[in-house]
Amino acid sequence: MLLQVLYYIICIELSERRNVLNNKVGIMGGTFDPIHYGHLVIANEVLFKFDLQKIIFVPTGNPPHKRSAALADSYHRYMMTQFATMTNQDFDVSNIEVEKESISYTVDTIRVLKDHYKNTKLFFITGTDAVLDLPNWKAPEEILKLCTFISVNRPGYVTDTLEDKLDKLMEKYNGEILSIRAPQLKISSTDIRNRIKEGRPTKYLLPENVEQYILKKGLYKIDDRKK
Ligand code: ATP
Ligand code: MG
Repeated sequence: MLLQVLYYIICIELSERRNVLNNKVGIMGGTFDPIHYGHLVIANEVLFKFDLQKIIFVPTGNPPHKRSAALADSYHRYMMTQFATMTNQDFDVSNIEVEKESISYTVDTIRVLKDHYKNTKLFFITGTDAVLDLPNWKAPEEILKLCTFISVNRPGYVTDTLEDKLDKLMEKYNGEILSIRAPQLKISSTDIRNRIKEGRPTKYLLPENVEQYILKKGLYKIDDRKK
């Protein structure tokens, strides 16, 4: 009996230790205005290459670097992100930023997620353009203390000196930035919005249910997209 109890205690201990070691979660932030296959393919590649438990998509609420008048309402962007990720059980969507009344900064979001996911290594996924913009973010040093960045090549933004630039950022902020390659899709939300405004096709650039949602809600058709 005693031996059996000891055996169970050891099993629980080992499985908890394995959980602690295996806890790796990816965070994919973005305005997702709208979400498209460029976002989805890089998230899935990182999920696979780093053997993460899941990826949490975090649509921005009121991003400091983009004028909110030029964005679809955060509710619509949140809904589109939900629709786009619903067929992947390893993709989650967080409303942490869209629910906020005030401007949302990445550092605040990561603090909250770090607090929630204790004993978990967090990875923040960005395209090349976003990672090179890191010096303009609030508290980059703290962000890099709380999580590891994964920079994914984005067509149009990849430079010969990328590795040098990433090295300099790591040195400056004393953090870890890993760089990986993923299938390159030259898709941007800006192009999709322009296409919709001009009546050009968007098929095969983004999931069909997102396209349907945009159509149903009449998003991006007019300049003032605050609907
Ligand atoms: P916009 O044109 O409105 O800026 P976007 O297509 O750049 O939209 P964002 O929501 O700004 O999309 O980007 C969220 C994240 O996804 C950023 O880290 C960005 O670098 C990355 N990303 C977006 N599109 C691609 C793509 N086609 N390939 C690789 N990374 C991408
Ligand atoms: Mg962008």
